[in-house]
Amino acid sequence: MSGITCKFGGTSLADAACVRQMVEILRAHPGRRFIVPSAPGKRHAGDKKITDLLYTWHNMARQGLDVSEPCSLIAERFSELARELNLTFDVDAHLNEIAARVTDFEEPDFMASRGEYLNGRLIAELLEATFVDPAECIRFDGIGRLDPVTYKLLAKRLEGPGLFVVPGFYGATPDGHIKTFSRGGSDITGSIVARASGSSLYENWTDVCGFRMADPRIVRDAKWIEEITYQELRELSYMGATVLHDEAIFPVRELGIPINIRNTKEPDHPGTTIVPRRESRQVVCGIAGRAGFTMFNMEKTFMNKERGFGLRVLSVLEELDVAWEHMPTGIDTLSLIVRDEELGQKGDALREELTERCKPDNISITPGIAIIATVGVGMNHMIGVAARLCGALAEAGVNLRVIDQGSSEMNIIVGVEERDLAPAVHAIYGAFEDWGRTD
Ligand code: ASP
Repeated sequence: MSGITCKFGGTSLADAACVRQMVEILRAHPGRRFIVPSAPGKRHAGDKKITDLLYTWHNMARQGLDVSEPCSLIAERFSELARELNLTFDVDAHLNEIAARVTDFEEPDFMASRGEYLNGRLIAELLEATFVDPAECIRFDGIGRLDPVTYKLLAKRLEGPGLFVVPGFYGATPDGHIKTFSRGGSDITGSIVARASGSSLYENWTDVCGFRMADPRIVRDAKWIEEITYQELRELSYMGATVLHDEAIFPVRELGIPINIRNTKEPDHPGTTIVPRRESRQVVCGIAGRAGFTMFNMEKTFMNKERGFGLRVLSVLEELDVAWEHMPTGIDTLSLIVRDEELGQKGDALREELTERCKPDNISITPGIAIIATVGVGMNHMIGVAARLCGALAEAGVNLRVIDQGSSEMNIIVGVEERDLAPAVHAIYGAFEDWGRTD
């Protein structure tokens, strides 16, 4: 087996014209043999995604409400696709079967998966491809993790010549019940199929040309990232870069299969390629920032000599069930940075417990912090990266509240006041946009 796995997202399959565009893309390269479709997405801003309609259908049916609206919207969408693509695909027969099972399960997974299932059937007919139902070969274990036996089961089903269609988003539990990944999970299926089929490349076709170096709402026309390592992407996704489901890199990562994010509407654009190691000399590949953090600052003379101070801080966090993000320290100071949504209403309790258990000389809380990650493997052993970053912030008049660099030397995290988020990202982008590219 070899070839290319192509996952097509919902907006890339929203109507018949999009599906025809997919066929063009597949025809342009004979290696594109393993196709993973999402359910049809929105055709325009006010439209509904098929998956959302299926969740609604399930929810209403469980409450005994009239389901004719979601049901007929779904029927119309698939009938239109079948009609415009000249397929014999019997939408009504399939929907009747699904309707008969709508209240069978308390969980919505079976219903939610039907968008991918139906679209997969339809596309397989169109392409005269072999349809592979993930219910028969993508396995979850008893606690909902992917069972590695999946790769063997799937590989067997993907043997032989021609095209294969494997719908995204779902698999089955050991007792045969359909289970979905989290939303956007067809990206994960694509990665699993790429690995099981021994593909040399996983193309993820979507509605953007990949990742930009910075959020275009802050830096208009920020450059597209051509190449990014799995590790760099992981750091940037954590800060909110959402083009690809963040679990999608794991199945292919172990085998080093690259993921190429491509835009269906601009098929000639090379997109962003996610690789084990990158060739480009660009020092920083991306900058991502987000607001919504609170900083707890503690000061205590001789903190550096006190045994167990950090342990006490961490045990307070564990007892209050609060996850922390960063913990920059000085000689006599320790700051704790927590996401606001994680902190919820626990801010006062956290302060009280830290005061009680850690007995700092002083504790203060700074809300309204934004965190910015400047990411790039190119900064490893590169002199002057932090200097350049701090210089750019100083020049832009941004006060740096914290700075933290992990030992992997590929991500410098800075904390600034929320109102400084946009000017800070701008300044950092300006400083690194071309560094290494042209030097
Ligand atoms: N259709 C599913 C969703 O809307 C899965 C996917 O498209 O990846 O989340």
